[in-house]
Amino acid sequence: MSTPRNPSELARETLTTLATRKLAPTPENYAQMYREISGEPTAVAPAEPGETTSHGQLVPAWSELIRDLLRQLETPHKGITVTRKKDGLETVLTRFSRDPQVLFDKLQGLLRSWSTAPAAPTADELVPSVMPAAAPASTSPQTPAAASTPAQQDNKDLLGQLRELLAQTLENTRAAQPELDSEIQSLIAQVRATDNKDRLNDLAKQLRQFWLKLELRGGDKAKIQEGLVRLLRLLVENVSEMVEDDKWLHGQIAVLQEIVANPMDKHAIADAERTLRDTIIKQGTLKQSLTDAKATLKSMMTTFIDRLGDLTESTGEYHNKIEGYSQKISKTDNLTELNHILKDVMHDTRIIQASALRSHEELLAHKKQADEAEARIKELEQELEQVSELVREDQLTGALNRRGLDESLERELKRADRSKSAVSIAMLDIDNFKHLNDSLGHQAGDLALVHLTRVIKETLRPADSVGRYGGEEFLIVLPDSDLKAAIEAMQRLQRDLTKKFFLHNNERVLVTFSAGVALRGENEEAEDLIGRADKAMYLAKRTGKNRVVAAE
Ligand code: GH3
Ligand code: MG
Ligand code: MG
Repeated sequence: MSTPRNPSELARETLTTLATRKLAPTPENYAQMYREISGEPTAVAPAEPGETTSHGQLVPAWSELIRDLLRQLETPHKGITVTRKKDGLETVLTRFSRDPQVLFDKLQGLLRSWSTAPAAPTADELVPSVMPAAAPASTSPQTPAAASTPAQQDNKDLLGQLRELLAQTLENTRAAQPELDSEIQSLIAQVRATDNKDRLNDLAKQLRQFWLKLELRGGDKAKIQEGLVRLLRLLVENVSEMVEDDKWLHGQIAVLQEIVANPMDKHAIADAERTLRDTIIKQGTLKQSLTDAKATLKSMMTTFIDRLGDLTESTGEYHNKIEGYSQKISKTDNLTELNHILKDVMHDTRIIQASALRSHEELLAHKKQADEAEARIKELEQELEQVSELVREDQLTGALNRRGLDESLERELKRADRSKSAVSIAMLDIDNFKHLNDSLGHQAGDLALVHLTRVIKETLRPADSVGRYGGEEFLIVLPDSDLKAAIEAMQRLQRDLTKKFFLHNNERVLVTFSAGVALRGENEEAEDLIGRADKAMYLAKRTGKNRVVAAE
């Protein structure tokens, strides 16, 4: 190493030394060894720490780089949107992918440019800026990055809906608490004026005190009061979670809004509470699983990219080497050197084979895991959709709810129009249900509703649909049925109920109903049709109950 030699001699010795020291023939190792042998000072940037080990294995500084890139890609930076980051990444990858070293440097540069940008405000801090309604107008110029993204817009909508929901819930307490009217009104005004999460949380404290007060008042309307208070509490306690969250909650809020918008009775409140509680629990579990599955997928993708980086790096190098070797072989007549070259080739080949084999197996395994995770994510997302947007069933009985019923009726009416077939409906109301509730208890009443639904489903044809129209009122849609057939179907149901008793504490309880049946007139609107069936049902009540009456 003392006497300077010509470059080709140096190159040869470098390769030989790499082979004898069992070091991988990477560009970095080559350069380092070359410098060592030639005694050149380290003019080029020193090799990245951790790039090689004394065993000559590649320790991917790449993997760290990619991990950092992924991390920073998701970290909010002021003035740099994720799309801009992705574009930058795309450009660097396209332009510099040929040369791993340059690519590495450029990617590092890119990373530096992101990570030195100031961190963007968090979602919490953003809420006021996307909701300037009640806040004093800001005088500082807004950077484009501070404009609201679709996610923030969603948040804003959600917050608005939630506010309205709270306000409506409070509105419903007014009738029951005339003495507290001014206080409630002031709370409602505050709820409606709340424009960010912090204020909402402040307000939550006031609301907590308010319901404590309500709880103390008790009195005749105690039951309704209690229900409302519980609902209010559930809403407020979950406020922060709801606001932080996303599209899955829109559906629930819609369902709740519907319930709260109607006049309240204690059952409606109990239903609302049950629905909300169920969905909050279910969503919590589902979201956790979804987050886990996504995290797994992400970590697998990171490993996948690492391995891919290793693979392409060493195969590219391998091809270059082979070409270099064949040139050298053709030029040399020195037996010792040929022997060295051969050793080198074998060494390289072993490395590349091992690496390719390992990568191949790993990639296959990762792909399988990734596919599984993806399938699981799809499944979970579907489940989430079911508990949110697509709530079509009544929670207690499993019959259709109003939303499901409306859809089903619309569909059948359209179908009847197309096929010029008859369609009838029946409105059912349980007889003396109040008495059943009072004598056996509300829970038994609930079970009686479940029982009736089951018998209806067992008795009617699969094409018929049954929905819970109100507390103890059911609407049945009977496609391809004229008035006679529909009346017969209801009478058959009456008979079946005398055989399939509702059992309460092993006692047989006879559940009867009164029904109004209506055949849909030509082009008759759903609303008018229901109105006629309802009228007939009341006639059945007035004329003795446990009867089926045809509508005019
Ligand atoms: P009628 O024969 O005239 O229909 O008398 P009724 O007692 O059935 O009629 P009313 O409409 O006066 O009472 C209906 C009762 O149904 C009032 C309410 O307490 C009860 N109810 C409504 N929804 C539910 C529910 O989900 N579960 C239970 N257990 N009871 C309910
Ligand atoms: Mg009724
Ligand atoms: Mg009734």
